[in-house]
Amino acid sequence: VSSLLTRYRTFKVLMIGDSGVGKTCLTHRICGGQFPSRVEATIGVDFRERLLDIDGEKIKLQLWDTAGQERFRKSMVQHYYRNVHAVLFIYDVICPGSFNGLIAWIEECRQNSLGQDIPRFLVGNKSDLRDPSRTEGQVSQERAMSFSKAHGMMFFETSAKNPPVTCGTRRRDDGEVLYQQ
Ligand code: GDP
Ligand code: MG
Repeated sequence: VSSLLTRYRTFKVLMIGDSGVGKTCLTHRICGGQFPSRVEATIGVDFRERLLDIDGEKIKLQLWDTAGQERFRKSMVQHYYRNVHAVLFIYDVICPGSFNGLIAWIEECRQNSLGQDIPRFLVGNKSDLRDPSRTEGQVSQERAMSFSKAHGMMFFETSAKNPPVTCGTRRRDDGEVLYQQ
């Protein structure tokens, strides 16, 4: 019974990016632990939660996995951005088009989060598919890092399938973003 009464602080995090970049797989991986063998295309919005204990504080991480007809969701979009604590802008490291598509998502976020300074993260997914022997057709870490810097975001590369974080940035207590390889 006591666990039912525990108060969790809820953190609402949006998973944003083009279709196919891996938003649903990352959400499953973070909240369920497994890389799903098969996922259905997301319709509308779906969310999953994970309970965390961070330094004794009870946290409910709530990932909002946004959808499908991504360019046609004008009527829902204000709802997504209400009371958001962080946004992950996700692209596929072997799909430069999904990286180029981020500009539109960043603009959507800007328009819908008026006045709020929401922490934003640039997340290059599918790093397991990166081919080190070639450069064309892939989004380089240098390119992503300078993009994240220009937009005041933190940056990570990851994989929902086989997830070592290969490079990334972190924010110091004073808010300065540090870059590390
Ligand atoms: P969404 O449209 O952004 O939700 O993308 P999905 O999560 O549905 O994933 C699209 C496809 O990419 C699926 O076939 C996944 O199996 C695959 N996928 C997602 N993440 C990864 C990853 O990190 N590595 C690899 N190799 N495949 C991935
Ligand atoms: Mg999906």
